[in-house]
Amino acid sequence: MKAIYPAVLWIGIYLALVLAPLLILFAGPRPPGGGFWWDLSMAIGFAAIAMLGVQFVLTARFRRAAAPFGIDILYYFHRYMAVFAFALVCAHYGVIRVVNPDSLGSINPLTASGHMTAGRGALLCFVLVIVSSLWRKPLRLPYEVWRRGHVLLTIIGLTLAAVHIEGVDYYIEAPGRRLFWIAFVTFWVLLVVYVRLIKPWYMRRHPYRVVEVRPETANSTTVAVQAEGHAGIRFQSGQFAWLTLRASPFALKEHPFSIASSAASPHRLEFTIKNLGDFTSTVPSITPGETAYLDGPYGAFCVDRFDSPGFVFVAGGVGIAPIMSMLRTLADRHDPRPLLLVYANSREAGVIFHDALESLKARLNLEIVHVLQQPPAGWRGECGMVTEALLDRTLPGNRHELDYFLCGPKPMTQCVEDALHALKVPLGRVHSELFDLV
Ligand SMILES: Cc1cc2nc3c(=O)[nH]c(=O)nc-3n(C[C@H](O)[C@H](O)[C@H](O)COP(=O)(O)OP(=O)(O)OC[C@H]3O[C@@H](n4cnc5c(N)ncnc54)[C@H](O)[C@@H]3O)c2cc1C
Repeated sequence: MKAIYPAVLWIGIYLALVLAPLLILFAGPRPPGGGFWWDLSMAIGFAAIAMLGVQFVLTARFRRAAAPFGIDILYYFHRYMAVFAFALVCAHYGVIRVVNPDSLGSINPLTASGHMTAGRGALLCFVLVIVSSLWRKPLRLPYEVWRRGHVLLTIIGLTLAAVHIEGVDYYIEAPGRRLFWIAFVTFWVLLVVYVRLIKPWYMRRHPYRVVEVRPETANSTTVAVQAEGHAGIRFQSGQFAWLTLRASPFALKEHPFSIASSAASPHRLEFTIKNLGDFTSTVPSITPGETAYLDGPYGAFCVDRFDSPGFVFVAGGVGIAPIMSMLRTLADRHDPRPLLLVYANSREAGVIFHDALESLKARLNLEIVHVLQQPPAGWRGECGMVTEALLDRTLPGNRHELDYFLCGPKPMTQCVEDALHALKVPLGRVHSELFDLV
């Protein structure tokens, strides 16, 4: 409930940013010679540019704006709004092509007017952005290549769109409107400068030093970093940060990882990383003494947001990382509330933090249920998947009053959400974190 007012405020700010250009540009006298379809097309075009400009606000990772929703929700919103804005760009072009094709002029950049070529260039950039983002995986685009291309194409696309609007010079020619248009473009340029230059510069001035690298299992490693010359980041257990190793913060080579250590130690943070891809498979070779940079904390997956009489955690594989931070933090606070951890893994050897979890039992009112898909001979614990039946026999009687934190592979969290729903646990008490933003 606490989060509702800030959420409404930020939604209001979003709508104001998107709608203000339209209201201001279309207030007052209409320039002559337009006609309904022409004006409609212009309105659609301005709406599109306003939405596309605000896309940068959504991914600028302003912590206050992201806090009420969770950054994953903002990224999904960014994705859907981008598709919607792109549809508007197409509609802007489509209406003119149908009702006034002559105004489009020649398609040949050598003979066409510069601002019309800029408009076509912007359209091409947006097509590339949308196609590469929606179909990145089928196109086999490496994440980092995609991300750099995404940033570059959107900046080029929006710059070309601004040149196009300036060149068409319709609706923005009155002094008041021109001032507003200049302010809008300046805001957008400052935002890009902040996100791509000022923020990385700040991160460079607040570095971290790798102080420990610890193998957890055959394919997961914990990296501990210590704030160097500053106080670190105050975070709530369950949150995550973007970690940069062996690269400059300007290089866009950051990766999101949940903080696995206790929130009681903001100057020394630990990340537990499953070695599975280009970057993560290099993590075991990191050595103490290397420099790291952090951007965070982010995320709304936090026990501190809820005041329930107890918590249930359901983790799968490395999804234990944010939950470990919650357990460690609750232990540091001597929290007496009953806690249940259902922890699913394929094999016993893949159980991350096995011993650390056992020791936490001495400091917390904690019950742990391990679930193995491929149990060893003689295993007496739970086997298979985390099913409704398993949860029904494991959850306590006051299950409807508890808050649930789920983190693991998507099929697992989906199944557990369905099972909890079937067990009549209120939807608002189930909180999930997916290790996937796009
Ligand atoms: C909120 C959040 C918390 C996470 N916490 C953890 C954690 O505690 N431990 C852990 O092991 N993993 C965690 N992950 C997953 C981790 O970020 C990815 O596994 C890692 O970035 C993959 O990088 P790679 O180059 O090794 O893999 P690749 O094989 O190159 O990429 C695999 C997939 O990971 C995603 N990915 C790759 N690079 C990035 C990036 N820079 N930013 C975002 N996504 C990317 C892409 O979807 C890509 O297709 C978390 C992810 C998110 C979103």
